Amino acid sequence: MGLRTALVTMNADLIAQMSCNPAIGGIAKGHLVREIDALGGVMGEVTDEVGIQFRLLNTSRGPAVWSPRAQCDKRQYRVRMKEVLEQEPNVRILQAEVASLRIHGEAGKQVVEGVVLADGRELRAGAVVVTTGTFLNGLAHVGEQTYTCGRNGEAPSVALGEQLRQSGLRWGRLKTGTPPRLDGRSIQWDRFEAQEGDREPTPFSFLTERIEREQIKCHIAYTTERTREVVRAAIDRSPLYSGQIEGIGPRYCPSIEDKFVKFPDKERHQLFLEPEGLDTNEVYVNGMSTSMPLDVQVAMLESVPGLEEVEVIRPGYAIEYDAIDPRELDHSLEVKTIRNLFLAGQINGTSGYEEAGCQGLMAGINAARRVRGEDGVRLERTDGYIGILIDDLVTKGADEPYRMFTSRAEFRLHLRIDNADERLTGLGRKVGLVDDRRWENFGRRQREREVVRGLLGTLRLSAARFPGLGIENGDSPLAAAWLRRPEAQIEALRPWIEAQYGEAVGREGLRSVEIELKYAGYIDQQRRQMDRLRDSGERTIPREFRYEGIPGLSREIRSKLEAVRPETLGQAGRIPGVTPAAIVVLDCYLTLGERRQGG
Ligand SMILES: Cc1cc2nc3c(=O)[nH]c(=O)nc-3n(C[C@H](O)[C@H](O)[C@H](O)COP(=O)(O)OP(=O)(O)OC[C@H]3O[C@@H](n4cnc5c(N)ncnc54)[C@H](O)[C@@H]3O)c2cc1C
Repeated sequence: MGLRTALVTMNADLIAQMSCNPAIGGIAKGHLVREIDALGGVMGEVTDEVGIQFRLLNTSRGPAVWSPRAQCDKRQYRVRMKEVLEQEPNVRILQAEVASLRIHGEAGKQVVEGVVLADGRELRAGAVVVTTGTFLNGLAHVGEQTYTCGRNGEAPSVALGEQLRQSGLRWGRLKTGTPPRLDGRSIQWDRFEAQEGDREPTPFSFLTERIEREQIKCHIAYTTERTREVVRAAIDRSPLYSGQIEGIGPRYCPSIEDKFVKFPDKERHQLFLEPEGLDTNEVYVNGMSTSMPLDVQVAMLESVPGLEEVEVIRPGYAIEYDAIDPRELDHSLEVKTIRNLFLAGQINGTSGYEEAGCQGLMAGINAARRVRGEDGVRLERTDGYIGILIDDLVTKGADEPYRMFTSRAEFRLHLRIDNADERLTGLGRKVGLVDDRRWENFGRRQREREVVRGLLGTLRLSAARFPGLGIENGDSPLAAAWLRRPEAQIEALRPWIEAQYGEAVGREGLRSVEIELKYAGYIDQQRRQMDRLRDSGERTIPREFRYEGIPGLSREIRSKLEAVRPETLGQAGRIPGVTPAAIVVLDCYLTLGERRQGG
């Protein structure tokens, strides 16, 4: 966005280090990457460049929930990301520890003015974005052993962690974990079912036309009765169950010991053996996140047929860390009580690269706009999964590590991977993140979609002219109407469309028009619902609005509203426990307030 930016990190070689599974995307996370890309972010492009296995997930279900996932080459991902950053003329990378934030002013009216580094240097800044991940007072657990660390043995951030603990912001302790990494040479690969990538990979970036690289195989494994016995016999040595770990972990991503305890009747659990790259022997055991002692981890692994001789390169571990309660933030990700201070990523209670990436992007946009004296940019829940994620965080907080799911979206059919550019690239251009190359590419795709929509809206199909489409003799449906049939596929019309258009048409563009036509009825219905929600929900609540003394609001609801300080009536309605009746009362009081102000 044209502003001079210092990126301070503990180890410049480990920028974009994937602390857990080197995979990008997955259900709903793939949507986030598409949206990051549509706004001008680089996560999608880099993934397309370094992905070693691509799969489009959920294709047996409706297109709203299709989501791309790629296994990446872990080392290449960070190398490429750093190269991208180094090409940015305004970014200055500094390897240093931020010891504290330079904050000025009395409580409630504070302003951040820069950072102080552990070596004593000071950087002054118009805005600061803190993205410390799991580093704040990080404490790792492998069985009975604990050690302080940030991520995989890196030093934790203690001084900054202490300052934030003392800052008056609410904070909590969360936990996440990772599985052991194995030496691929010690795995008997032929004893596992292979899982191939897609024959035609779906790229993450709208700028990538095709991915033609050869893909690797992953393999599927299962735990056994013996694994269960090993876990049961050692459960009292698990830091999770001995009380050693106090932080709250993600319910949806339990450790293997958690799975055996919580689902005692389940005979076996699925595991995936996923290579971490093309030039390493390290293999990630997806599904076996654990903080059990190393000897138990080895025994668990050896109980899986094909892993009897396995060598562990790195043990699995759990990590506890401080996270700030995201209800301390507004929708621009700025701390409500400390002006110009923005927080993004795992520090806000989320888990996942994509969740972190999209927050970093939004916080960055808003920090830059603040420096330029412009208004903040806020994405609504109807604009994208990024809007949903931020609204959920700042409204409901994060009692456990928050990750994105498609079920969090009210209007799923509207928020698809194929139309993320239509939803967001205009905004990306407006704020100055979408360069000419992306803008022209978007314009070309839009023209293509327009032409295809127009052609299909006038083309009449007949059995004689279009044999094999299941059209009865004498029938001549419009192509757009024919596409609503479940078995109808737009690809069957590609030769005709391209002949009319005069050039090749992208796979994604065709798919996008097909989905619009097939689900037109549902999409219209969702659009009407969105309009209704927007009309009532956008009513703003002044920051200084006083909830006390309003009859009709229970003490409990009042304290929830005071804790969150929602910016709009819509946001107030989404706070758990705030009833529709309370919203009606608030609506009346807002009207009353406006009338009084108007004299
Ligand atoms: C053990 C583990 C397991 C995980 N498991 C999963 C999982 O199963 N699924 C999933 O989706 N996600 C998982 N994650 C989460 C995912 O890795 C993170 O959510 C994501 O990487 C967070 O990104 P971030 O940018 O917020 O922080 P990070 O990627 O952790 O980056 C933090 C950065 O801040 C820098 N930093 C910290 N403190 C300072 C300071 N004081 N001064 C200067 N620089 C500082 C560090 O150098 C680092 O570069 C796991 C993470 C860990 C650590």
